[in-house]
Order: sequence, then C-alpha cells, then structure tokens
Amino acid sequence: MTSVQTGPAITATTHYINGCWSEHGARTFSDRNPFNGEVVAEIATGGAAEAEAAVAAANAAFPAWAAMPPIERQRLFLKAADVTERRLPMIVHSLAIETGSSAAFANFQVQWSINLLRQAASWGYLPCGEVLPSDTPGRFAMAVRKPLGVVAGFTPWNGAFNLAWRTAVLPMAFGNTVVMKPSEEAPVSAGLLHAEIAEEAGFPPGSLNVVVHGPGDAGAIADVFMASPAVRCINFTGSAATARILAEQAGRALKPIVLELGGYNPMIVLSDADLTHAVNATVFGAFFHQGQVCLCTRKVLVERPIHDAFIDALAAKTVTLKSGDPTDPRTIIGPLINDRAVQQVHQRVQDAIARGARVVTGAKAHGRVYEPTILADVPRDAVVTLGSEETFGPVLVVEAVDDAEEALRRAQTTPYGLSAAIMTGDQDRGLALAQRFDTGIVHVNGPTLVGEPSLPNGGVKDSGWGRSGHYAMEDFTEIRLITLNRGAGQYPI
Ligand code: ADP
Repeated sequence: MTSVQTGPAITATTHYINGCWSEHGARTFSDRNPFNGEVVAEIATGGAAEAEAAVAAANAAFPAWAAMPPIERQRLFLKAADVTERRLPMIVHSLAIETGSSAAFANFQVQWSINLLRQAASWGYLPCGEVLPSDTPGRFAMAVRKPLGVVAGFTPWNGAFNLAWRTAVLPMAFGNTVVMKPSEEAPVSAGLLHAEIAEEAGFPPGSLNVVVHGPGDAGAIADVFMASPAVRCINFTGSAATARILAEQAGRALKPIVLELGGYNPMIVLSDADLTHAVNATVFGAFFHQGQVCLCTRKVLVERPIHDAFIDALAAKTVTLKSGDPTDPRTIIGPLINDRAVQQVHQRVQDAIARGARVVTGAKAHGRVYEPTILADVPRDAVVTLGSEETFGPVLVVEAVDDAEEALRRAQTTPYGLSAAIMTGDQDRGLALAQRFDTGIVHVNGPTLVGEPSLPNGGVKDSGWGRSGHYAMEDFTEIRLITLNRGAGQYPI
C-alpha cells in the first residue's frame, strides 16, 4: 500500500492569449519535478511575439473590463473561487510535482486563493474617489480613482499558486487587465492553472493573459512589457537582484513598478515568552515550504536566560519534521526548487561551519531535500547571519542576546525590511517594540510568516514596496482630478 498521491495530468502547457490557447511552437522545454527530476510537462517557449500579442489582447480588453459594473466582476471572481475550490485536489497535486510543495503548504495556497477571490469580489464597491474643497467659488472638485490599463505581472515559483492569483486579482479587481509571465520553474502552478480557471469562470477574452517561456527567455518578454506604451505598470514578485534590473528598466521607461521581494526576517524571543509557542512559531516560520517563502524566519534572537532551553526544544521539534516526496501527505519538508538552490544553501551552511558555527540540526542534503538546519554560535561575518543575503532554504540562525534592546539592534542590521516577530508574555511591551521595527510587517506573539489575503503584506527598503489586500488600490489605480466650474470665472489675464 502506498500513501503517495497521484492526480490528473497537467493539461495546460501553452500560452493563453485573448481567451485562446496558442499552438505549441517548434520549441518546448521540460518542466521537471524538483523531487525526482521527472518531466511534469513539456511547456511552450514564448518570447517577444507572444508577449506583444498578449499585451495587445489585454489592451483591447481594457475599456470593457474597466467599465464592467461591479456586480458582473463580482460574479466572475466568485465563480473563479468556486472553480478553484472544486479543483483543489488537482491543484495540490500540481503544486507537489511541479514546485515541491507539501500538502500543508499547497492546501494553504489554494485556500488563501479562494479567500482572496471571494474578498476581491467586493472591492469593486469600495469608494473610488473623494470630493475636495476648493478655494474658488463655484468650483466642485473631485479626485476620482481610475484603473491604470494593462498591468504586466511576473509571478514566482515559491508560493506559485497564491502569489500568481495575487498578481492577477489585485490589479483586475480595480479594473485593470493583466498579462502574466510565470517563472520558468512553475509555468503551470504560477500561471497556466489560473488561465484555465479564468476561462472556465467566463472571464472575458484578453482580461487575463498568460505567456510562458523557457529558461533564459524572461528578459525578452520583460523588454516588451517595458517598451509597450499600453503596459502602464509592472507588478513583480521575486528576488531583489532581478527587481533591481527591472526597476532600472522601469525607471527609464517611466513606468510605475510594484515590488514584492525577499526578506531577512528576525524573530525575537524574550525571556517572558511562552516557550512552547515560541518554539512552534519559530519552527513553522523557519521551515514551512523548506524555508522558501519570503516571509520565512531567518534568525531568532533569544534572551540569554531561556536561550539554552529554547535551542533544546527547537532542535527536538525540528528533528521530527518528516522530509521526502511532497506527494506523500505525511511529508513536511520537500525538495528545494533546483540544484542551484541546494548548492547555494549548502555552500552558505558550510561557510558558517568553516568559520566556527555549531550545527544544532541538519546541514545535510539528500538529493534536493535539505535537512532543516539550525546553526548556533555563528560568527558575525558568515553570510547566513549578515542579513544582507536571503538564504532561500531551511536554514535558521539562533543567537543569544542580553536584552530586547540588543535583540532589536541586531535584528535591524539588514537592508531588507519585510517581516519581524516578537514573542513575549507582555503584550504592551510587544506592541511598543513593534513600533520600532523598520519593516512592513511585525507580528507580536506570532510567526514572521502570516498569510491572510486581506492583510496589507509588503515590505520596505530592499524588500520592495506595494501592499496586498484592498490596500493595493493605491498601487493599481491613479487619481484623476475632475473639476466642474459654475459661473463666468475670474482670470489674472
Ligand atoms: P527567484 O530567484 O526566486 O527565482 P527571480 O527574481 O530570479 O526569483 O525570478 C522571479 C521572476 O523574475 C521569474 O518570473 C523570472 O522568470 C523573472 N526573471 C528572472 N530574471 C529576469 C530578467 N533578467 N529579466 C526579467 N525577468 C526575469
């Protein structure tokens, strides 16, 4: 008897443009299972021509989508949520075989997406402007929010399914049409599944388009997005390194760009914290999806009186996490996304060990599965503890601190500014410390990784800018000033 799940085969393998599935061209690339290297699907390789066709389709669809009454858009989002819900087992399977997501993470992504779609269904009814006082008699002034036009979205492979829905839904809920370019590591889970669902839900042709591509071809597609006057905003989720390239290009093209990037997220555990809760929140925050989420905890700073007990309890729980094939529902730790990721994680752990770090757990790879790794006594110059690099894997640094002030100081030595967490038995103290973090998110008595689609997740500094939930209205609309003037008017000349 086997507990390993199998599921329906992946059906969508080529671009979805203007409501149609493109023909496969002469070239395809093999989309592989990160756990065992098996081919999951042969995917079309798009380039500039497909990107141009998708932008043209989104541009043509924009006026009708922008003018659609909120009730009609609401019906479509609710239908998409229902279709997603019905397809849950198939999506969970795709996420396992294409991206290495455990059942827990895949189910989380699908439920998050359903919730987002249902919440966004009502955003068309949010107030879309203000009436402004004017110093001029007879002038009636309004600030009216308008959609931008076509928004070009880059979707990542890690939270492939929910982050791609976020990339599509946030702009679309406020009247924009979208072209999505999924990561070549997850063309199905980070885009093509969404096109299938949008098609079944009855989204109008051109409102959501997806262009897929092979390794190394992202740049040609990005160039089209940057050059096209129809594309009015770039919406990127990924690494700070790629964001710098795109932000420079967007700067030259004078296009706004929304950036949801990585983090080096600290957890502070004060000596009055509930130890069991602190351990559970740290293990979840550090090792969910093998540490491949931008909100994952990278460092935990523990007040000295409980440091040793904390490390012991942390290690005891960490070694119980079952690793292996993510299609096995018992698996907690699946594979890293590719060999490059395994090498980088391993090199950085070895670098820390060579400098004198103590391995509390892990530090071993089994194929692409990397054991959850806890490092203590890490010298300040090791890459994993510097805070300047995000080590995108299951690696956690534990440091002892004298007090909350030292913890705060050491937690902030990073150019990133995404999430932080504080565990304490004193809520007032926790809230007061939360005010002092230079991050977009702080959780008191919770993990650094909290995901609810209605909450304004997002970063500051090298973690990017832009917020999720309905706060995205700020990013995906612009304000038009309209005045209505009564009377003859008075002019200086
Ligand atoms: P990660 O390292 O987590 O894969 P990346 O920032 O490299 O994150 O990739 C995120 C997205 O950016 C993917 O859709 C990828 O195809 C795209 N991308 C990567 N490099 C480039 C590039 N030079 N130009 C445009 N897009 C890119």
